[in-house]
Amino acid sequence: MNWETVIGLEVHAELSAASKIFCGCATTFGGEPNTRVCPVCAGMPGTLPKLNRAVAEYAVRVGLALNCEITRHCKFDRKNYFYPDLPKAYQVSQLYAPICREGRLTVVADGKEKSIGIREIHMEEDAGKLVHDCSGNRTFMDFNRCGVPLLEIVTHPDFQSGAEVIAYLEKLRETLLYLGVCDCKMQEGSLRVDVNLSVRRTGGEMGVRTEMKNLNSFKAIGRAIDYETKRQIEILGKGGRVYQETRRWDDENGVSYGMRSKENAQDYRYFPEPDLLPIEIDDQWLKMIKGSLPELAHEKRERYINDYKISEKEAFIITTHKNISGLFETVSELSGNPLESAHLVTGEIMRLLNQTDTLPEDLSLDGRKLAALVNLVSDGKINRNAYRETVEAVFTRDVIPEEYIAENGLMMINDDEAVIEAVKTALSENSGAVADYRAGKEKAFGFLMGQVMKRLGGSGNPDMARKALKDALK
Ligand code: ADP
Ligand code: MG
Ligand code: ZN
Repeated sequence: MNWETVIGLEVHAELSAASKIFCGCATTFGGEPNTRVCPVCAGMPGTLPKLNRAVAEYAVRVGLALNCEITRHCKFDRKNYFYPDLPKAYQVSQLYAPICREGRLTVVADGKEKSIGIREIHMEEDAGKLVHDCSGNRTFMDFNRCGVPLLEIVTHPDFQSGAEVIAYLEKLRETLLYLGVCDCKMQEGSLRVDVNLSVRRTGGEMGVRTEMKNLNSFKAIGRAIDYETKRQIEILGKGGRVYQETRRWDDENGVSYGMRSKENAQDYRYFPEPDLLPIEIDDQWLKMIKGSLPELAHEKRERYINDYKISEKEAFIITTHKNISGLFETVSELSGNPLESAHLVTGEIMRLLNQTDTLPEDLSLDGRKLAALVNLVSDGKINRNAYRETVEAVFTRDVIPEEYIAENGLMMINDDEAVIEAVKTALSENSGAVADYRAGKEKAFGFLMGQVMKRLGGSGNPDMARKALKDALK
């Protein structure tokens, strides 16, 4: 008796447009409560919304990147409900003619490629926030988030495992970041994922689904999927019934709770929004948006591998985040040395990000300084140790590489005299190792090399030192 999991996702992405969807208020996260509000987004009767053109453009960008059909004549609908975080008591959304339909996103999970169907992408406004007083007898309303533009990206129920869901979300996040339409910060709620899940006998009829909310990380999503799959199988295995409901995930305790029975579209009494004009996306506008699409991660990967001969592994690491590939491209362009730049970004920079717990989105490094260092090391002006040390100083303290190198005496010693002198002292102070080497112990050479480099103060030219040492030992 085999069970199969069926999952469909609804992803809400807050758009990084500067102003709200139907008024000119700023969309910036946080801020003093109720300072980014006007009569329109506060839902005062008699006010009229006006669509922010950028929102439609962002939606079309995402639709094109996800291989959707673009609805050339689309419109808004009113979704009615009573909830105190939305003072109008309705949300302007799209039900009948969403801006994008029937797209695809190909992902790789558990080593297998899979194409996930996108049912639709629609535009809507976000609601405000309720802040509950800890004494439990008061609730405050913050309307700053009211009217912040959202895209809801809805998939077909095409996922069969948590791994597929995570692979899809990672690729979707990567795409949204590269398109520059959403900052995808789950912790700030700019990317919110609802998981719809049902189980069925392999190949059998679709089961009743539940919808899980309050999933604040990819890790939580994976855990919630495992939990819900088990829960449903257990109920059905005992001959019970799963009820269509919305469930809240409690990540701390690793359990979910039923919140409310799930409404159907009819319950919202949707109707065409009478205060907004339909949107006509003509050929010219569509062409303009297509022309403005930036290069996406998978396109960058191909270019790096084909044009720069960078390894597939490095190309993947570089493109995990827009900021990382941006930095790589700057360093590579300015230094004219893509291979060395790729090693730098995938090696030292990744290591420093991990070590300092810095998120790629918070990365801000001067590409010119790194390019200068790439040139210094590849031209043999500084050695690898000095290079690593200076990269770290640029990363942590934004030092000027040339100054730092001069102040710390890190310029490579390319001076024959100094090298010969260092070899001489190293040999006279380590006669034991010299004897070992002459007796055929190859290992002793490495030790003597270390002694020579130590005497050169870490800025020695290793090639030169190796040659001088070999000559002296002959
Ligand atoms: P609603 O609009 O009420 O939220 P939808 O029919 O639009 O419901 O579906 C929402 C999401 O649930 C979609 O991603 C869809 O793929 C998914 N879904 C629909 N039916 C099932 C099911 N039986 N099992 C799992 N997911 C489902
Ligand atoms: Mg829905
Ligand atoms: Zn406003």
